Amino acid sequence: MCRGKQVFTISVKHSHKSSPFDAEMYAITHTSWKVLLYLDKNPTITKVKYYSDCSSTLKSIMDGGPHAAQFASILFRIKTHELLTKHPNVKVSMEWTPGHRGVIGQSIVDKLAKKASKSRGPTLLDESTKSHVKQTLREELVRRWRERCRDTEIPTTSGIYQASKVLRPNPIPDQIMKQTPLELSGRLNQTLTGQGYHGEYYHCFNIPDNPTNCFCSSTPILQLRDHIICDCLMYDEGRSALLTQFPRLQNPRFQLSSLFHRDRQPHLIWWLKKSGAFTKRGIPWEEIPTNPHDPGPSAIIKEAYELPD
Ligand SMILES: [Zn+2]
Repeated sequence: MCRGKQVFTISVKHSHKSSPFDAEMYAITHTSWKVLLYLDKNPTITKVKYYSDCSSTLKSIMDGGPHAAQFASILFRIKTHELLTKHPNVKVSMEWTPGHRGVIGQSIVDKLAKKASKSRGPTLLDESTKSHVKQTLREELVRRWRERCRDTEIPTTSGIYQASKVLRPNPIPDQIMKQTPLELSGRLNQTLTGQGYHGEYYHCFNIPDNPTNCFCSSTPILQLRDHIICDCLMYDEGRSALLTQFPRLQNPRFQLSSLFHRDRQPHLIWWLKKSGAFTKRGIPWEEIPTNPHDPGPSAIIKEAYELPD
């Protein structure tokens, strides 16, 4: 687009064996070549701006190191260098436009990309790209991983692995994990997998010199994960908020796995934070403010999940 007008288009199918990242990289490279041709005919232009909704393309396109779709990156830099040499008054910039942010040209680009992807004509490349191979391997790995989880029978007596019934394996951490401070996300993981600081784990794995009974009672009670979450008096802080969300929490037939669903995890995280459950010392993790403007983990979680005080 130049001064609100469409001045050129280009649309070509990239390859049968390439990833969306390759297509984005070669699209911006092709554009740089067309831009140079256009500037040669229109030397009064002084600004060139590339828009892309693919942040990884914008990060990689000027990267001189080895990376996927490196050839596109090399061509782009050659063309941009040529452009700046021939037209020293031109300023070149790039802008990330997630969700297109109302950039008119990008809806046109989307239509052209769809048209090219459905085309049965010749493709730009014949070979399989590095990112396509990586993507295919990753998809295959995830498929086999999920299949294995789906087909593995977990006995109801195995409290430890109930989380795998409600959480599908995913190679990318959930948004919840990314938003939660490291200490808490680690403790959530330990709680979900049952491999943390509690008697049930010490007992199952026969770890000596660690107490397997809970301290909350004078009569010996094995410190099960269910007990800590649902009943233990030592971790009562914040449980009322948990009970509001899960009124059947203290019902003997309550399934812990129902607490582990992704959309319910924020409430579990909140209680972990408040109660200090599943920490080595069994007390809430001490927040150390790094600077006066830092809201601290509690405030971050509260704001992220809109939870009570
Ligand atoms: Zn207890």
